[in-house]
Formats: sequence, C-alpha cells, structure tokens
Amino acid sequence: MAEKLLEIENLCVEYNTEIATVYAVNGLSLSLDYGETLGLVGETGAGKTTTCLSVMRLLPEGIGEVTEGTIMLDGNDMMTLPEETVRDLRGNTVSMIFQDPMSSLNPVMTVGDQIKEVLKIHNKDMNKDELEKAVDNMMELVGIPANRKNEYPHEFSGGMKQRIVIAIALVCEPKLILADEPTTALDVTIQAQMLGLINELQKRMNTAMILVTHDLGVVAQTCEKVAVMYSGEAVEVGLAEHIFGGQHLHPYTQGLFNAIPKLDVDTHRLETIEGLIPDPTVKIEGCRFADRCKYAMEKCKKAPQLVEVEKGHYIKCHLFQDKKV
Ligand code: SF4
Repeated sequence: MAEKLLEIENLCVEYNTEIATVYAVNGLSLSLDYGETLGLVGETGAGKTTTCLSVMRLLPEGIGEVTEGTIMLDGNDMMTLPEETVRDLRGNTVSMIFQDPMSSLNPVMTVGDQIKEVLKIHNKDMNKDELEKAVDNMMELVGIPANRKNEYPHEFSGGMKQRIVIAIALVCEPKLILADEPTTALDVTIQAQMLGLINELQKRMNTAMILVTHDLGVVAQTCEKVAVMYSGEAVEVGLAEHIFGGQHLHPYTQGLFNAIPKLDVDTHRLETIEGLIPDPTVKIEGCRFADRCKYAMEKCKKAPQLVEVEKGHYIKCHLFQDKKV
C-alpha cells in the first residue's frame, strides 16, 4: 500500500481551443490519506472539476492536456500508465459521481443493467446469479427497492436517479470517490439525504472522498480536510478546524466566509468579493487574487509560496510568508 492514497504535485492543465489556450489548473499540489474526506471549495472556474477529470484521466481528448506535474493514485503514476490499466483503475480504485444525474445515466438501459455493467467489467469471474445479487444489494444499500432494477432512469425522481449514480460509483468499492457537486442539481431536503447517504456508505466501505462544492456549509458537515481553490491553484489547505475555527485565513477564504448570510445580524445587503476571477487565457506572474484583494501590496506582483502557518495548515499569500512553522 502506498503511503498516501492520492498525491498531486504541481499539476498544470490547459485547454487548447482554436480561439485561445485556457490555463485551467496552475500548479496545484494536494494529498489525501486512505479513508480521508477532502472538501475542494471554490467558485466556478477555479479548476475543481478539471482537477477531478485529470485524476480520472478523462480530460476531453485533443483539447485538455496536463502540461506539468504528477498524479500518484494508490502508488500508480496516472500520467504514464497505459490506457488499458487506467480503465481498470476507473471504477475499481477511483470513481466519480457527476453533478447532474439526468445526464450521467443511459436513458435506454435499465438502472439495474447500468449497475451490473460496472460490476461485469471489473469482476469477470462473477456468474449471472452473483451479479444479480450484487446489484440487488447495492440498490437496497442506496435505499431503492431491488425490485425496481428493471425500470429506466426516466421512471425515477431526481433524488432517486442520484442514488443510482452513487450506486454505480460505489458498487466496486473504490478506494477514492470524486464527488463533483453531487447535490447541486437536487433540492435542499434531498441534498441533506444524499450527503448523509454518501457519508454513511463511505464510512462503511472506508472509501476516501474528494467532495467538490462551492458550499462551505456542506464542507463543514462532511469533510476532515479542506482545500480552497482560486483560479486554478490551492490558496489554502488545512484541516476543517483550521478553516472554520482558525485565526489565520487567506484573504479569499475570508471573503467566502464574509459572503455567508449571518442569522444573528440584520443585513440589508450581503457582502461580496468585488471583481471577477482573472481571465484564464492570460498567464499571471504574481498573486492571482491581487486584483480583488484589499491587502494587495507591491510584493504581491511576485507569486507567493504555499507555506505551513501551523501544523497541517498551508496558505499561499504574502501576508503569511514569515509565519512559517
Ligand atoms: Fe492579497 Fe497579496 Fe495575499 Fe495575494 S499575496 S492574497 S494580493 S495580500
């Protein structure tokens, strides 16, 4: 067993289109232990989904490209493995739950067959009865009666469809789940049920998870570790208690917290982080948050380093460069 389940070092990903090159991920470094849950937080365009697709090696062919860095998954170098081996790891070692259950399922295949398909690929020695039994068990585990396995996706509600997607992702008991905003397409009550279900199954199977979200409340409820992404890089990484209760926060993380409505304060207007994320087609030398940061200073024209400000808590900002532990 490798020391870490996932180690991403200095990952850089570009999308090359006819119009421009988009620098989607810019030097991201992250690690995850076996069984650990990491919340990947940030606004749209921060590079969260691209990071997950890079781990799965599912970047759009001919357009998306990892230009630098390494991804080690359970001791496997995802950058150099042959496609056949990567296909074997998908589903077995790493699975992804996509945002929209409507487009993740095949509309002309029964839900049972869709769960069975994954099992068949990774368990070639299972006979027909064993496969059927495993499908029944998985359906019951996600809270859907097994006798509905011969129905098609359109016969299920949005929440039920997402349960099927979770069943497909977990049926081979992967070591890592990449959950890309798994509850965004669902209403609030179903969201809570779904997060509870993912958490319960994850604990039962000792599966690690990267939960991609822009919702800090969801992260607080479910994650042990948090990485805050901005414009394709991790600006802050720490334990949940560092981010939610700590004294030191990156100015962008501070802005995210300030934007959350406070129940005990009579507010007419919510705080926002002024400005927009930088144009991803432009390479930036200095701090990528500088145009929106109220603490910006001369030295921010040079890129800061990610430094450890307390044990296990890293911040990429010139305000903290001399607070190294
Ligand atoms: Fe703000 Fe400078 Fe820190 Fe960037 S490095 S977040 S501009 S203080």
